[in-house]
This record gives sequence, structure tokens and C-alpha cells, in this order.
Amino acid sequence: MKVLGFAAHSATASLEPFSFERRTPREDDVVIEILYCGVCHTDLHLARDHGGYTTYPIVPGHEIIGRIRQVGAQVTRFRADQLVGVGCMVDSCQQCQPCLHGWEQNCLEGSTFTYNSKDRLDGSATFGGYSQNIVVREKFVLALPAGLDPAGAAPLLCAGITTWSPLLHWGVGAGTKVAVIGLGGLGHMALKLAKALGADVSLFTRSEGKSEDAIRLGADHVVVSSDPEQMGAVTGQFDVIIDTVPYDHDINPYVPTLELEGVLVLVGYMGPLSTPVNAGLLVSGRKAVTGSFIGGVKETQQMLDFCGEKGIVSDVEIIPIQKIDEAFDRMSRSDVKYRFVIEMSSLSV
Ligand code: NAP
Ligand code: ZN
Ligand code: ZN
Repeated sequence: MKVLGFAAHSATASLEPFSFERRTPREDDVVIEILYCGVCHTDLHLARDHGGYTTYPIVPGHEIIGRIRQVGAQVTRFRADQLVGVGCMVDSCQQCQPCLHGWEQNCLEGSTFTYNSKDRLDGSATFGGYSQNIVVREKFVLALPAGLDPAGAAPLLCAGITTWSPLLHWGVGAGTKVAVIGLGGLGHMALKLAKALGADVSLFTRSEGKSEDAIRLGADHVVVSSDPEQMGAVTGQFDVIIDTVPYDHDINPYVPTLELEGVLVLVGYMGPLSTPVNAGLLVSGRKAVTGSFIGGVKETQQMLDFCGEKGIVSDVEIIPIQKIDEAFDRMSRSDVKYRFVIEMSSLSV
């Protein structure tokens, strides 16, 4: 199937129109016409090869909302015309312990990602949501709850599940105190979800100007992380901290703000930290620094259903695909309110 998308051809090139072939749909596949695709900071990391493992050309995009155009003969849960979502994964082995447990993101054979990955059966390159259509194994297609704005729901497929999974795993709810570091795509979803779960929610930000928005998005308190006095005032406060900062940074100033046995969960930066973590800060108070990677298919559906019940969507700025480079530049400067979403009809004009 011939598909038009936008691709980067090198780490320094602008994204540009790119015509490519999607695999022929199989019997357990769903063919989706993409309506909206969120712009995640991971798209920027991968397009610019920050991690050193990008294969070009790359068509980014893993916050996909679209309408089903075709289903294979073995598809049972979906039918044509339904609105659905696709997130960061399109396949996994389905047999290892993590997969059987519903943790496909931790598949021991490696999950198949929506882009910059290889199809498990024919080895063809996967291309993401900055495109007209996508072909996805039914198991990895999510139902969009009725009533959710499709553009606003797109970022739930990555920013939503990536923050939901650690919030649930570490038992966030009424009576817990949660802090979020960084108010961008993941950060604003973390505020909304933690608030809806009943927690007392704080934001750590470098950007004083985001305080008013943070309160509107669900924060009860805002701490400007560059202000030592404000940092000192929250010593020993938080049960869970979700750290969404996309680049190397010193986490030591945040550890003392954890409550006894509190956890700081890294979900943003995934490389080596250049400032070593002071073990003394962890030992006294049995504090932990840990991480979390997106979420499984089942918990993604649970998160979407929760958002459907509570009417939670992302705050989005809708752009035509031709503005993607500008969106990447603004995202690099932390100037996003609070997720860019591409309107895919702009591709055909
Ligand atoms: P984003 O929209 O750009 O937001 C990141 C926020 O972090 C910024 O708005 C800014 O908030 C703060 N920030 C940025 N640079 C910083 C720096 N150098 N030091 C301190 N704070 C900084 O990005 P995003 O889409 O939310 O993604 C965040 C990270 O999560 C990316 O690295 C992405 O690749 C990663 N990610 C991980 C997973 C996973 O499974 N673990 C899934 C999706 C994305 P303030 O202005 O408030 O300080
Ligand atoms: Zn993402
Ligand atoms: Zn597996």
C-alpha cells in the first residue's frame, strides 16, 4: 500500500514529504486512516538521532488517532469506521512472561515499535504516524472512548500512558503526594491524571511563567526548581516524583524532597546521568530512584477508559504537518502548550 508521510533523512535535515510502501494487511491487521498524531519529544530525539540508534529515513509519530478503513478476516474487536488509537508499539512476541503479563513494552524479544523498528514477520521498516495510513495488528489497536475529542486524545497514547503507568504502579490516589518535574507533554498529562486519581499534586518547573497554567491543569502547588528556598520548603514531602526532563540533569536536589520510602521515577531522560546520585540521600529514608517505560496494551486501554469517564484529554496546539520543524524547535525551547498535534488532513493539500 503506497502511503504519503513526512520523514527525516538525516539528523540535521528538515522533515519533508516522503512516499513509502506499507506492508500488505494480514488477516489480523487493521488499516487505519490517520486523523491526528501528537508530537512527542521522543519524535525529536529520534529524528535528530540523539540516542545514536536512528535508521533513516524515519517517519516519526506514535500518538495516533484514526478511523478504521479495513479489517482483516480474523479481526474480531473492531470494524470499519470506528475511531481508534495506536501508541508506541505495534507488536511483540506475545509469548514471553512480560507479554503474557500484559507488559508488552518489556517484551524479552524486544517490542516492535511504531517507528524506527522492524516488522517481526517480514523485517520491513516500521513507519509512524506522521502519515496518511497505518497497518497495525489488532492486538495493539486501542478503542477510543465515545465523547473524547480525537485531537486531544491523541497524546494519551504516549504522554498519557507513560505517566499513568507509574502513577498506578506506585499506588497514587487519595492521600498520596505526587510531584511532577517539567511541564511539557508528559508533565501536563501527569498533573491531570494524578489530580483525577485524587492525589495532592505539585509541579517542579524551571519556568516560573508556567505556574498559572500548572494550577489550571491540576497542580495544587508549584515549586520553581531554580529557587533554593522553594526547594528547601518541600523537603520530605513527596511519595512519588515523576521526572519528565528530556535531557541529562542532576536529580540530587529532588531526592531530599521525597518522603520516607518515596520513589523518584525517571520517565524522561534515558541515558547516563553525568552527576552521580548521592547514595547517602537514598540510604537515609529508604528512598528509591527508578524508571518506567510507556505501558502495556491492557493498561493503555484502562487509562483511555478512565480518561473517557473523567473527560480528560491533552491541551493541544493543532498544526499542519508543514509546521513540524517549527514545532520541534519550539519543543526544544520548552515552548509547548502543552502538546502539538498534527492534523493529518494537511498532508494531502
Ligand atoms: P516536552 O513536551 O518537551 O516537555 C519536557 C519538559 O521538561 C519541558 O517543558 C521543561 O519543563 C522540562 N525541561 C526541558 N528541558 C529541560 C532541561 N534541560 N532541564 C530541566 N528541565 C527541562 O517533552 P515530553 O514529550 O513531555 O517528553 C519528555 C521526555 O520523556 C523526552 O525525553 C521523551 O523522549 C521521554 N519519553 C519517555 C517515555 C517513556 O516511556 N519513559 C515515553 C514518552 C516520552 P519546564 O519548562 O516546566 O521546566
Ligand atoms: Zn512518546
Ligand atoms: Zn514478549
